[in-house]
Amino acid sequence: MLDFRFIRDNLDAVKQNIKNRFMDVDADIVVELYEKRNALIARAEELRARRNEISSRMKGKMEQSERQVLVDEVRSLKEELAGIEKELEETEVRLFAEASRIPNMSHPDAPVGKEDKDNLEIRRVGEIPSFPFEVRDHLELGEMLDIIDFEHGSKVSGPKFYYLKNEGVILEMALVRYAMDFLAKKGFTLMATPDIAKASVVEGIGFLPRGAESNIYAIEDTDTCLVGTAEITLGGFYQGDILSQEILPVKFAGVSHCFRKEAGAAGQYTRGLYRVHQFTKVEMFVYCKPEDSENMHNELLALEEELYKSLEIPYRVVDTCTGDLGAPAYRKFDLEAWMPGRGDFGEITSTSNCTDYQARRLKVRYKSQQGNTFVHMLNGTALAVPRVIISILENFQQEDGSVIIPSSLVPYTGFDRIFPKK
Ligand code: AMP
Repeated sequence: MLDFRFIRDNLDAVKQNIKNRFMDVDADIVVELYEKRNALIARAEELRARRNEISSRMKGKMEQSERQVLVDEVRSLKEELAGIEKELEETEVRLFAEASRIPNMSHPDAPVGKEDKDNLEIRRVGEIPSFPFEVRDHLELGEMLDIIDFEHGSKVSGPKFYYLKNEGVILEMALVRYAMDFLAKKGFTLMATPDIAKASVVEGIGFLPRGAESNIYAIEDTDTCLVGTAEITLGGFYQGDILSQEILPVKFAGVSHCFRKEAGAAGQYTRGLYRVHQFTKVEMFVYCKPEDSENMHNELLALEEELYKSLEIPYRVVDTCTGDLGAPAYRKFDLEAWMPGRGDFGEITSTSNCTDYQARRLKVRYKSQQGNTFVHMLNGTALAVPRVIISILENFQQEDGSVIIPSSLVPYTGFDRIFPKK
């Protein structure tokens, strides 16, 4: 959430930013409610001051008739004050709800645009493999190698669920351990996080916990949800806290399952493991001082790149356009891996600098020289298992259908190749 005063004092810029993000939200109503709230607070203060003045006067001597006038005035003051306090509470609830819909401001260099095609490619890294045989996609390979089973996933849990089998299970565990070891060496605190979070935290991070547009599974008869990402639980960790400067930056690496409804996701790139309802992900999350967040964002991107270079997966880096930032991000970089099965790049990681947008909602502050200040919060995918499995199977496939394991991963898998079983 943006600061209310910031919205009022920068209304034109806030409206332009809403336009750039192709969102349909009303900034004027926020200003209206903010002004109303300020006026109600001022009036309440006036009434309280008058009430205090009367009570100290009434401590002195006075005629009974004069006292009666004051008693009557106090009664009407109290009535008016009660009305104002009620109206103030209602106004603040509405103000918070309306302000929550306003997106974060965007980094001045973020490309303005609506769709993926408006993202700005920054660089390509790694060689795109060429195959002297007909390329198989990960679904075909997964079946030949007997490591991915959508048929039974669908039978037991529904479409877009899957079982990993045999070396597929080891591959998932190896990837998670590989990413966790990598991040531990970079100074991250390792976390295995809850897969369920309170709706208030889900909302604080910037996701809709319920409703037709929500990508989140809410759990019936509770105020909790299945997490779509460990960003939720890692970002909720310090909710309501005032941190000491010395502990910043806090760097967490969290592993969780991720659950997503993906209701509106249809199209050419939803096949197989690319878009599923449940997957395992290692997520990076950082709390830092505002002045450090831009460097920290570049650092998270550099870590993602180092990880994918070490796995020998060809990728490109894109600067995400304003229309694709989502509400909380100020700037977002994605890594897109080369996926030979589709002959195109596909997103494998995403890192966002959310500045103080989430911190203001979740009330996460630190003690600075200027007083209590909202921290900046950033997140980045280290490794989302299914799309990395796609990238490994498709980029390292051999003519006989076997798949070579990237050499850095072999100490974790214990095998250097998966052979077809069918
Ligand atoms: P996000 O938290 O939406 O930025 O996604 C982080 C990463 O998780 C993406 O870059 C993908 O690698 C992966 N991912 C997101 N949604 C899905 C999904 N439905 N199925 C598989 N992987 C996903």
